[in-house]
Amino acid sequence: MSDELDQASELEMLNTQIALANRPRVTATFTGQCHWCEEPISKGHYCDAECRADHEKYVRAQSHRSVA
Ligand SMILES: [Zn+2]
Repeated sequence: MSDELDQASELEMLNTQIALANRPRVTATFTGQCHWCEEPISKGHYCDAECRADHEKYVRAQSHRSVA
């Protein structure tokens, strides 16, 4: 019975990961390292939400600079 529940939440997690991976702003590919502080990670692009926020801020600042 708990198997079904596990599968459902796994699928949900996968969908969330796909949704996150398809976010247009961050184009980074999985490297095994946090894209901001280069901490080794097992999945995703950042070791935590702060690194994601900091990197997104940085990317935004970079693109503003190149447009201006
Ligand atoms: Zn990090």
